[in-house]
Amino acid sequence: MKEIIEIFGVPIDNLNMEEAMNRFRELLKEDRMTSIYTPNTEIIMLSETDQDLKTALLDSQLNVPDGFGIVLAARLHRVGIKGKIAGIDMMEQILKYLNYTKKSVYVLGSKPEVLALALSNIQENYPGIAIKDSHHGYFDDEEEQEIIKRINEVKPDVLFVALGAPRQEKWIHEHKHQLNASVAMGVGGSLDVMSGVAKRAPKFMVDMGLEWFYRLIKEPWRFKRMLVIPRFLFKVLLTRDISKG
Ligand code: UDP
Repeated sequence: MKEIIEIFGVPIDNLNMEEAMNRFRELLKEDRMTSIYTPNTEIIMLSETDQDLKTALLDSQLNVPDGFGIVLAARLHRVGIKGKIAGIDMMEQILKYLNYTKKSVYVLGSKPEVLALALSNIQENYPGIAIKDSHHGYFDDEEEQEIIKRINEVKPDVLFVALGAPRQEKWIHEHKHQLNASVAMGVGGSLDVMSGVAKRAPKFMVDMGLEWFYRLIKEPWRFKRMLVIPRFLFKVLLTRDISKG
């Protein structure tokens, strides 16, 4: 049975990685395009005021708890949560599976040079995957039509979308019924890491829930955006709107 934890009205699937991958394999078999998102505290806070983002999250087939903030919120409200699943970890598990089963992908997003480096690393590490095509994430309306046309020509099993949050979630949702792919996943900054341009926090920091702090040191211009973290925690302490759905 599907176990959902609701945080401020956003449904999060209460799954560990193995269960999330089982769900992913089921989604691949559906005869419609399905979506996977990785909500973190920032996305949940944004969805309070961004109705299109909220709609995308509500209409998703799998939302994994990305980050310590979500786990903390659930635990503070004594809602049993199995733990966090970082988006990039899930993407890596998916790539491993696609490599093993020789499936195909289309990758959309990131700066052209980051995308090229990430694709070459993906191809090297997962040679069984057919990278059908790709496009960087800085396109206009006309190019967008070409991108959609191309995705529908190559019909990838998985479409990875790295346009940053909340653009990627809204983009997937807006085009969900137009796209001929089995599963679309919003992967945020994962291509930056896979390209080698950005680094993940050291494991001890990830384990301590301090990934945000590492990011703040590396990308201090994110400070303003990160102010949502204390706001989120404050809201978590005051709310009753966290429960098992
Ligand atoms: N990005 C993009 N087009 C845009 C905005 C962002 O392709 O219009 C890419 C950006 O180059 C990066 C990724 O989306 O590779 C994630 O961006 P960011 O770190 O800002 O998003 P977040 O990690 O906060 O979701």
